[in-house]
Amino acid sequence: MPVINPIPVEISPAEAVRVLRLDRRAGGEDQARKLWTEAAALFRTRAFFRETFIESRTADTVTIEGRVFRSRVLRVNTDRAFKVFAYVLTIGADLETHAARSDDLLHRYYLETLADSALDAAAEKIRGHIGRESGLDRLSGMSPGSLEDWPITEQTPLFDLLGDVDSEIGVRLTDSLLMIPRKSVSGIFFPSEETFLSCRLCSRQPCPGRKAAFDPESRDDTGPKRIDPTGEGENAGLPAVAKKADLVYKAL
Ligand code: SF4
Repeated sequence: MPVINPIPVEISPAEAVRVLRLDRRAGGEDQARKLWTEAAALFRTRAFFRETFIESRTADTVTIEGRVFRSRVLRVNTDRAFKVFAYVLTIGADLETHAARSDDLLHRYYLETLADSALDAAAEKIRGHIGRESGLDRLSGMSPGSLEDWPITEQTPLFDLLGDVDSEIGVRLTDSLLMIPRKSVSGIFFPSEETFLSCRLCSRQPCPGRKAAFDPESRDDTGPKRIDPTGEGENAGLPAVAKKADLVYKAL
């Protein structure tokens, strides 16, 4: 079972200023750099993933190695896929432990925000790594809980599919389906012709983690429209183009 540990992550000072909403003219870049240095020293970034195979589909489900995933969007996104990759990624517990000790709520917010950016950056890195290793040009990803269509309850079959994630990288699922350490992310990467981002189907506002604008045209009365990059057939109607975050990564 492939484990990637450690995963070095970096974000540009400009990106740090942006996510922390600092004022560059008032010394924001220096402040962002100091905060990043403090946070990055506490990252223990690692990932665990599994190459898995789709066995069957219905209109709203995908069965992967005996586990049934209930999501219309996932089903449509993986319509043409056979091989997909289940993964869990974490930055560990050190940063959240350190942040929780701070009485300064703003400081705590800054550290937590940078941790979220580090998770995003690390997810991009492992996506690129898996794509290169598997010879797939482009992978997109979805995470349980990121859309109404694929709720957090889907963590159960995902962790079941992955196996003993706790032994591999020290991430476990609580009874309420939260991951411990809290700064962790899980999901499925799948081959795609264009980059898919859940944010385009999610109307939550405000969301500091948003990576693409909500596209109301992408939804119909019954939820997300079916995706068809060719623009034809039953899945036509959902554009899958998204803007990439302005992140700078060190080589894996
Ligand atoms: S907008 Fe925010 S909550 Fe919605 S999918 Fe994107 S990151 Fe998740």
